[in-house]
Amino acid sequence: MLKIQNAVTIDGSRMNLTIESTKDFTLDAQNLTIFPGLIDPHVHFRTPGLEHKENWLTAAKAALAGGYTTVFDMPNTLPPTITETSLKEKKALIEAQLAEVGIPLRYELFFGADKKHLSEIHKVKHDVIGIKVFMGCSTGNLVIDDDESLHAVFAIAASQNLIVAVHAEDEALIIERKKQFSDAKHYCDHSKIRNPEVAARAVAKAIALCRIYETKLYILHVSTADEIALIAKAKEEGLPVYAETTPHHLFLDDSAYDNLQGKAVVNPPLRAEEHRKALWNAIKNNVIDTIGSDHAPHTNTEKSQAYGACPSGMPGIETTLPLLLTAHHEGLITLEKIVSLTQKRPREIFGLPENNDVVLVDLNKTRFVDNATLKTKCGWSVFAGQELRGWPLYVIMNGVLYDLATI
Ligand SMILES: [Zn+2]
Repeated sequence: MLKIQNAVTIDGSRMNLTIESTKDFTLDAQNLTIFPGLIDPHVHFRTPGLEHKENWLTAAKAALAGGYTTVFDMPNTLPPTITETSLKEKKALIEAQLAEVGIPLRYELFFGADKKHLSEIHKVKHDVIGIKVFMGCSTGNLVIDDDESLHAVFAIAASQNLIVAVHAEDEALIIERKKQFSDAKHYCDHSKIRNPEVAARAVAKAIALCRIYETKLYILHVSTADEIALIAKAKEEGLPVYAETTPHHLFLDDSAYDNLQGKAVVNPPLRAEEHRKALWNAIKNNVIDTIGSDHAPHTNTEKSQAYGACPSGMPGIETTLPLLLTAHHEGLITLEKIVSLTQKRPREIFGLPENNDVVLVDLNKTRFVDNATLKTKCGWSVFAGQELRGWPLYVIMNGVLYDLATI
């Protein structure tokens, strides 16, 4: 049995906790606050094929360091996860890496919708958390850019009772705007090309498909006021539409290019301040359901390339909770809401079983985000140098205690 004494719940009361374990251990939590093990519904841990950026040896540690015990991994790997075979092979690699590092992280896999492999979906329906649809190109070549295939994906997903998770950026509009901005050479042009209309047009289309096929729709990385208005309306209508936002869209805006250069390039892009404010409001109003880190590492060298060659994406799983806790100290968000966004709603929306994972957090610990101590293989964070207040110290996953100072 694992005994945790003197912990504080998020509503401020004290508790002692006993957790089933093969080892007997007592931890005096010394006023640490107890959170459930967090769920990150959106990560790119890069196995297979892109393991110079990240793998599950490094990512499992990064997840624990961030307070996460469950992650949902995306299919845009090499090869992409678009067939039953590639899914099985990916799973075997992940299992081997988690065994090697000795961290049995809980994970689920998204299956990629690919025009030529839609018939694979019914074969994997019991083995995946949902279908990922790239409506616009991002890392990798997975994209569904024609209406006929989109209708087919939503129809199949509905018939197999699978949730559809969409990267909602309209590919036709991206191509059109790339032509308009053909001389783009500054990183900040990224936000101009993939403007709010690119996202809103795709979200409107996805919601229309959800209405036709009654498919559960999970909209990834919502970043604009325009999308929020459409999602709020869909929810009022009673459609099964759920929305995720990311830490970088909550904590950065398009002024960040000046300092971060290529590291600020992400899909969908960083937005103007007004959109950032709209996201915080949408959290208050329950229009946003979840926060996914969209942990998408690339190497320093890759991110130093000129605009056009510089890949989109940034790491995030280690800093999401400290960023949210710092925002809590600033009066922006309650602890209950943080738990709702990072554990309760992801569990409800995707129908995950309960578990007894917990994270012990020192709400008042201050620490600078330091690239040198990050666990992610890429070794950098856009939040490096920022002092954040509120850090996880221990994770208990499946009855095993992890001291985050020594993982
Ligand atoms: Zn992503």
